[in-house]
Amino acid sequence: MLLSVVTPMYNEREAVDQFVARLRPALDGLGAEYEVVAVDDGSTDATVSRLLQLRADWPQLRVVSLRRNVGHQTALRAGFQAVRGEYVVSIDADLQDPPEVIGEMLALARRDQVDVVYGVRSDRSTDSAFKRNSAGLYYWTMRRLVGSSLSDQAGDFRLMSRAVVTVLNSLQEPRPVYRLVVPSLGFSSGEVRYARQERVAGRTKYPLSRMVRLTFDSVTGFSAAPLRLATWLGLFSFLLCVALIVTALVAWGSGGVVPGWTSLYIAVLLLGGIQLICLGLLGEYVGRIYMASQQRPPYLIAHDTASPAPAETSVPAVRTPS
Ligand code: UDP
Ligand code: MG
Repeated sequence: MLLSVVTPMYNEREAVDQFVARLRPALDGLGAEYEVVAVDDGSTDATVSRLLQLRADWPQLRVVSLRRNVGHQTALRAGFQAVRGEYVVSIDADLQDPPEVIGEMLALARRDQVDVVYGVRSDRSTDSAFKRNSAGLYYWTMRRLVGSSLSDQAGDFRLMSRAVVTVLNSLQEPRPVYRLVVPSLGFSSGEVRYARQERVAGRTKYPLSRMVRLTFDSVTGFSAAPLRLATWLGLFSFLLCVALIVTALVAWGSGGVVPGWTSLYIAVLLLGGIQLICLGLLGEYVGRIYMASQQRPPYLIAHDTASPAPAETSVPAVRTPS
């Protein structure tokens, strides 16, 4: 049995030594064959060169370098397509997810014969209040879209069987959000609880802009419900309009005049705003269709320590189920 560990890394030079120092003993202690695939997501610091140094006395470490920064989820995808293991674990490189939990995950998966084991954060007190609250709101919304199979506070620290990874690799959508896609597939699952630690070094690579983008991808990837918002708002405006016509006619019949200016510009601006929001929403979906139709490779591999093939030929075969 081979266990594969996928770790996306973006400018993690400061964290990588401590990460390896804890991951390695945790994996060596499992008594199972394993490989670690570090996906360098176009880092601009010395992450890659340090990884290559570490590889010299840790042959199980494989370094896959992407040509440019493609983001956490797509880096994970590159990892999932590169690994060969029967079980695949994805873990962040900043030690917020404790590597020691991997053993527990593997034991649970084998004992209960489940396909997915989620790492669930039971304690996020080390995250900032803003991060906790925004995450709370995110999971609350997503549970409504994906369904209750979505475990609260399950991020990207999880173990999956080969069957799950095969399905993930065959997805055609441009930017799958794995933490939502995996629960939605309906594989049997278990949970391991752990306390979320503080980042050991470096800064978060998820500024607000990326969190907003993840949220947009999550919502548009799972539901067309926002499109229906336009219909409801339109219906509401229409009913309101009918009511106003009646009021105006009654006022006119009784010789009065409805005062105009304020109500007029409120109506115009409100409707204009609503229309722009609905157009923007529509645009999000059209944009996804457009990107899917372009069929560009979501990432390109610049260098992979496991394959001596020249980089240009290692374009991922993402469009064909593997
Ligand atoms: N990461 C990545 N590409 C990116 C951003 C982040 O590969 O564009 C990696 C990062 O190196 C880390 C993981 O994704 O291993 C999670 O990122 P981070 O810890 O910054 O996110 P947070 O824990 O703050 O949500
Ligand atoms: Mg982190």
